[in-house]
Amino acid sequence: MPGFFPQDFIEDLRNRVNVVDFIREYVVLKKQGQNYTGLCPFHAEKTPSFVVSPHKQIFHCFGCGKGGNVYSFLMEKEGLTFPEAVVELANRCGVPVPQDDLSPERVRQNSLRERFYHINELAADFFQRMLYEPKGKRVRQYLQNRGLADQTYKLFLLGFAPDSWDELSSFLLQNRVTEKEIITIGLAKKSQKDTLVDRFRNRLIFPISNVSGKIIGFGGRVLDDGQPKYLNSPDTPLFSKGKHLYGLNLAKGVIRSNEQAILMEGYMDVITAHQHGVKQAVGTLGTALTEEQGKLIMRYTYNVVTCFDADSAGQEATKRGLDILQQLGVKVAVMTVPEGKDPDDFLKKQGYEEFQKALSQAYPFFEYNLLKLMEKYNRDNISGKIQIIQELVPDLYKVQSPVKRQGYIQMLAERLSFSEQAIHAEIRKYQTGQSQSFKNRERPSEIVAEHKKDVFTAADKAQRVLIRLVLETPEIMPEVEKAGGKELFSGNLYQEIYQTNYLLSQAGHNIKVEDLVTHIENEDVRQALTEILLTDELLQDGKRIYQDCLTTLQIELINKKIEEKNFLMTQCEKNRDVTKSLKIMAEVQAFIKERQSLLSTLKKGGENLEG
Ligand SMILES: [Zn+2]
Repeated sequence: MPGFFPQDFIEDLRNRVNVVDFIREYVVLKKQGQNYTGLCPFHAEKTPSFVVSPHKQIFHCFGCGKGGNVYSFLMEKEGLTFPEAVVELANRCGVPVPQDDLSPERVRQNSLRERFYHINELAADFFQRMLYEPKGKRVRQYLQNRGLADQTYKLFLLGFAPDSWDELSSFLLQNRVTEKEIITIGLAKKSQKDTLVDRFRNRLIFPISNVSGKIIGFGGRVLDDGQPKYLNSPDTPLFSKGKHLYGLNLAKGVIRSNEQAILMEGYMDVITAHQHGVKQAVGTLGTALTEEQGKLIMRYTYNVVTCFDADSAGQEATKRGLDILQQLGVKVAVMTVPEGKDPDDFLKKQGYEEFQKALSQAYPFFEYNLLKLMEKYNRDNISGKIQIIQELVPDLYKVQSPVKRQGYIQMLAERLSFSEQAIHAEIRKYQTGQSQSFKNRERPSEIVAEHKKDVFTAADKAQRVLIRLVLETPEIMPEVEKAGGKELFSGNLYQEIYQTNYLLSQAGHNIKVEDLVTHIENEDVRQALTEILLTDELLQDGKRIYQDCLTTLQIELINKKIEEKNFLMTQCEKNRDVTKSLKIMAEVQAFIKERQSLLSTLKKGGENLEG
């Protein structure tokens, strides 16, 4: 992962930050023994399984498995790449980043992005200026009619694209923006006559910003009956559909402090909401919610209330979006505004108080689905009831808290006058089907974690302890190498941890555990490493445990070799190659003898690895 920056710089920078203080800005941490614990910021939980170690300067969540050092935390929490995380941390520490070490390609890309931001800013300024010119008068009128205050549309940088083929393009060309740049950024395209035609014409303009407030694209709404009603920027190097949330740059602070985001559909809904003091509102930019948008919200909160138009809240696409949020571990509730009104209308007519009231009455997602299904199917007959239950079972199955799940089952049983046992039976049936299909696809992390806990064999345990010892007492490494080195580790995860550490030390790095994390790119491996380091195994008699681990793994290795030899031997016997067969047999005998002597030292050592 490193590479853009000198290794020394990465390590020095990491050393400037205490991971506990750093994570404290995001998570409430409580001291417990040597470590600190808190509620994991990466998955929803009620009891803390997130551990931060001030000594090792790493974190690990025993619930979802996420772990790493301060860089990993920044990457995960702020959605950054490794080089971006380094730059971010350097900025927070006020340390200049060694620019010369950026690759030329990287420098080129960075400056290209900056250039595109600059062009978008020029365009946004142009649109805003147009709003205040005489031709923008009827747009201002329109905004006033929709109840927007001057300061609101200034806050959202609203503008006006005049009714002209190329007014914006000409303006940009005058400002030394090239034709190619204008086209790449999606502000115009080439006509058949080879002239530039502005993309947005005679439209109210909503600039779209990224989380840091830089303009990445635009949305435009017609002012008459033209089509399409809304037009967005195409996918460009800065903007891609389904990756951003409208207004998040303005809402993020409030979302974090209120621990809630309100998800809306339209630009106008979000803008009106902010004007009325509902400042945790963000917009999906007209698409059904994507996983990327869900993850973006999760950087700020795990609590989302949707507030969609009455007619779209029940639609399949909307439900899928909400399903995505739920699967990501976000708590979702659905707020409904009275018949036929969109949130924008509702806020204008009823105001903040009424909106808050409706917000507090938002239905948990499950209840909302139940209501919708009760409208859809006839619950007075048995087949209708079964339809409803079968459609809800997948949702019930996903509810993680047993208490909550039981509550829903009770509610369902009551509303449908159906027996709870029958509903439980449906869930079990569904569960059986699920666990079978799990074998063939990716498992959710909590199931993997559960699975990991169950299958620690003595050999697993020995590998984990040995890794920990090698990391904490590097002087034993030569001996471990002599005993088999990475061959001793059977799992890919353990093997990679051992080997990465070994290679770094071979290259002359006197690497600290917390920096090893930086060198491990694979997330699963990194998580295994932080887990091993933060699992509280008592290593009182370190020397003896070490010997036992090493011996256990050596025996495992010999078993593996014997198996291989036996296989070779059967091959030889098939081919009637007696000489070779005898030779192999002698080798197997030697292995067995070696195994016996190892076993006897293990017996003397006692049962340190049991339990
Ligand atoms: Zn977690």
